[in-house]
Amino acid sequence: VAGDEKELRAPICCILGHVDAGKTKLLDCIRGTNVQGREAGGITQQIGATYLPAENIRDRTSLKAETAIKVPGLLVIDTPGHESFSKMRSRGLSMCDIAVVVVDITKGLEKQTVESLHLLRCHNVSFIVALNKVDRLYGWKECTNAPIVEALKKQSDDVKSEYKWRLTKVVTEFKENGFNTAPYYENNKKKKVVNIVPTSAESGEGVPDLLLLLVRWLPDIITDKLAYDDTIECTVLEVNEHKDLGTTVDVVLINGVLRQGDQVIVCTKQGPVTTIIRDLLTPHPMKELKAKGAYKHHKEVRAAQGVKIVARVSFISIAVPYEHGIHCQTIHCLFVFLQGLQYAMAGTSLIVVKPGDDLRQAEAAAMQEIDMAISTTDENEKGTTTQEVSSIMTCKEGIYVQASSVGTLEAIIAHLKSSSVDIPVYDWNLGPVYKQDVMKASAMLKRKEEYAVILAFDVKVMPEASALAAESGLKIITADTVYRLVNIYTEHIKGLKE
Ligand code: GDP
Ligand code: MG
Repeated sequence: VAGDEKELRAPICCILGHVDAGKTKLLDCIRGTNVQGREAGGITQQIGATYLPAENIRDRTSLKAETAIKVPGLLVIDTPGHESFSKMRSRGLSMCDIAVVVVDITKGLEKQTVESLHLLRCHNVSFIVALNKVDRLYGWKECTNAPIVEALKKQSDDVKSEYKWRLTKVVTEFKENGFNTAPYYENNKKKKVVNIVPTSAESGEGVPDLLLLLVRWLPDIITDKLAYDDTIECTVLEVNEHKDLGTTVDVVLINGVLRQGDQVIVCTKQGPVTTIIRDLLTPHPMKELKAKGAYKHHKEVRAAQGVKIVARVSFISIAVPYEHGIHCQTIHCLFVFLQGLQYAMAGTSLIVVKPGDDLRQAEAAAMQEIDMAISTTDENEKGTTTQEVSSIMTCKEGIYVQASSVGTLEAIIAHLKSSSVDIPVYDWNLGPVYKQDVMKASAMLKRKEEYAVILAFDVKVMPEASALAAESGLKIITADTVYRLVNIYTEHIKGLKE
């Protein structure tokens, strides 16, 4: 980087589109992984963040060594496509520099494509269209990982003409939704007219073109926005109960540096929770944040990056200060604090308290953000708001829902609330199902038997809990997709009624 040039951070890119358009597959193709094949029912249920270092992108695009890439990499966020996840999509979007809208060339614009366009317009995010599944054009000759213009040249006249009319159809559909689009290789007004990149996530045609647009063209047009800045900007994506690490907070660090030992404030429904960063974990490059497996440990992490923050103190580090005579009460408080973390609200900021900062002031800022998150119902969102999630508790008759993270909980509740399903929720909890959950949910055995159910998603059910449930006649339903979970429940009710 030349002396007078600004240091740029990695652009943050979000992948949107209708379910089955090939978002996850496209990301897999870029990374050379196979998340799509491993997902339950092939459905993405949480937001994942993947960091692609510039050198890997260079390899994928056969860019000449002397051609500069001004950004250190690209941070890609894959969002779930199902309808009940619209809140999470909106969250992923608000922090993005650009979006890739994946459209299946054989289907054109679909319901959620249009919804994505609506969100993009609301959040004022520009986008590139990946016109995916070109290999499905009848008679397509595979040209693995080739630039799209090269691949198109190799096709028969029939394929070329099918491609042309399908492309024209998609351009028209975009026009009907108020967007001018053009294939990027013919687009002379790239800033005004949205670029379309034909791709195949199956055989890789057009993928180099898409990557080059993201790391070469984009930084030139949004240089100022990508200027690296020490001011910390960090958004919470997900809170998870990890079996070895305890409560972890997945964040996207948009700007600045996070360090081990930093004091941070997380916004939770109960108010601001202050804790210390014990460890910073990132997945290995090209793997995504939520993928299980080995993490890299860091003393510090520089933006833009997806990071898993470990905040919980291990048993030993609690026991030691105790022996040194610290009050029992202090230790108790510590536990309450850390427990509160599980209620961290996705989409809110993580605030770093710098030495010399006034903690109370910082907490007040966090409180303001919490109030905002609770009170503002984005009219453009169809999903649940945090307010709605907490108001579900007050429902006197309903089922009990338990999930691994706030995001999935919201998705389940949104799905339960949708008109086609419409099942009330009595209470909910995060993390493994314990005896206490069974006891709470059992209140329905007396009130309304069909609601005497715990829907447990992606969480462990403790043996004592199962035993108690079996004894008292409460049903615990587990499944690996939200849709299956709810289907099993509706089948169960049918069974009861017969
Ligand atoms: P998502 O819901 O948008 O994440 O879609 P997925 O990535 O899960 O893909 C949905 C289905 O389409 C899967 O069966 C993929 O294997 C298939 N698919 C995705 N992209 C392509 C493509 O470019 N070509 C072909 N032939 N199939 C694809
Ligand atoms: Mg997906």
